Amino acid sequence: MYDANHLISRLHSASKGHETRNFATFPARASVTFGELFAGAERNAAALVALGVQPGDRVAVQVEKTIEAIQLYLGTVMAGGVFLPLNTAYTVPEVAYFLGDATPRVVVCDPARLEDIQAISGAARVVTLDAKGLGTLTDSVVGRGGFTPVPRGPDDLAAILYTSGTTGRSKGAMLSHGNLASNSLTLRDYWQFTSADVLIHALPIFHTHGLFVATNVALFAGVRVVFLSGFNADQILEAMPQATALMGVPTFYTRLLQDPRLTPERAANMRLFISGSAPLLVDTHEQWQARTGHRILERYGMTETNMSTSNPYEGERRAGTVGFPLPGVEARIVDQGHEVARGETGVLEVRGANVFRGYWQMPEKTAEELQADGWFITGDLARQDAEGYITIVGRQKDLVITGGFNVYPKEVESLIDDLPGVLESAVIGVPHPDFGEAVVAIVVASEPQNISADKIAEALSDQLAKFKQPKRIELVAELPRNTMGKVQKKALREEYADLFA
Ligand code: AMP
Repeated sequence: MYDANHLISRLHSASKGHETRNFATFPARASVTFGELFAGAERNAAALVALGVQPGDRVAVQVEKTIEAIQLYLGTVMAGGVFLPLNTAYTVPEVAYFLGDATPRVVVCDPARLEDIQAISGAARVVTLDAKGLGTLTDSVVGRGGFTPVPRGPDDLAAILYTSGTTGRSKGAMLSHGNLASNSLTLRDYWQFTSADVLIHALPIFHTHGLFVATNVALFAGVRVVFLSGFNADQILEAMPQATALMGVPTFYTRLLQDPRLTPERAANMRLFISGSAPLLVDTHEQWQARTGHRILERYGMTETNMSTSNPYEGERRAGTVGFPLPGVEARIVDQGHEVARGETGVLEVRGANVFRGYWQMPEKTAEELQADGWFITGDLARQDAEGYITIVGRQKDLVITGGFNVYPKEVESLIDDLPGVLESAVIGVPHPDFGEAVVAIVVASEPQNISADKIAEALSDQLAKFKQPKRIELVAELPRNTMGKVQKKALREEYADLFA
């Protein structure tokens, strides 16, 4: 039954007429049609209700990426539940925090973890789902019939996604049916996705990027997805000649660039390469264009806001920027309570139907970041150029304050990255007895024989004010990154904490 407010009803209704078309194809298993996807989702919904799930109940899920896991997501929301996906890398003690905080009715985990999870799951029912889509959940799904989505309003919760939590405890971002539906429809139209598209889906599905941006947009547009369990250059390159779009994190692009099979011919059928979740280096953008003839479209968002800005589909995609606020999204850059002038840096705030409902059971934290008039303080530092293109300068908490002066890491990183022989860099602040914090640059060389700390220091000496120049430059083999390709500055700050002790 069609319910205009219900996310899954809307996704389902968008797929009408596509029932016998493939939704997902895989390198090594039979494809799944749109009809089969939703029939499976209905069976999951029925199974979850049989397990006791009531509207508003959380269903916590830590499983490998499978189409059954997508059906579990759809089924949970169909049943009126709140989908709570967890990074497969989380350890059992980490999962214990999330289960304690979110008190789910049902937990779905890998069979290998069943005993450990049962020990920490409190009153929740625990069922299993493995990397092949099998387990006790699947057993209880088999044989169930159709399911009518439990009515939900646009403000009702569809999901809670815990933020990666680089400071303090991880917070559960509450996302409503309205948040998710409005953002996916905006993206579908802005990026011009239609049922003629074939999207390479290699992102994890415990994160907003792979779960909502990629999956919901594909479902709303009737797109077929090449469903890969993770990043695999062979599989992506093999799929590319028949595909039209790829959504990736910047590391997808840097890794694919290392492969000689990436050629204009291989990318000839593609119409769109999208990057987000971490900054794409200007260099990567330029190399990609030189190698494939395509300009990567970079967009920006976060768990709490879904997607907020994007480079244009038509018009100039400006490297090093995340483009303009999406239709229906307002953005402003604020410093000390005032909007800054173009070209100046401040904290980016956004408002719109995309912005979440607050942090789960953290009213104070919510009030600090989500203001009463709807403006959400992203915590990202940004500036806007004369034409309105927004550049993300980094997280506010990564700002270095040395001797009372502010240093924006990105300014120093960009200069270092531009030097010949440098691949990339991360600039951090570490404790310093005189300056409070000292600027430190961690650098990865592309040509180690041609670059050294002294050469970098010399090159920066007449380009940056003295207080911005790194007090130490460390050359390393690679930067620590999480699964979404984000450089882990917190880990670097910890590693180099004693540099000036
Ligand atoms: P998450 O909630 O895990 O999606 O992380 C959101 C954060 O990733 C944002 O607050 C930004 O700091 C960062 N981010 C996402 N997209 C971009 C982008 N295109 N450029 C720079 N940073 C980004």
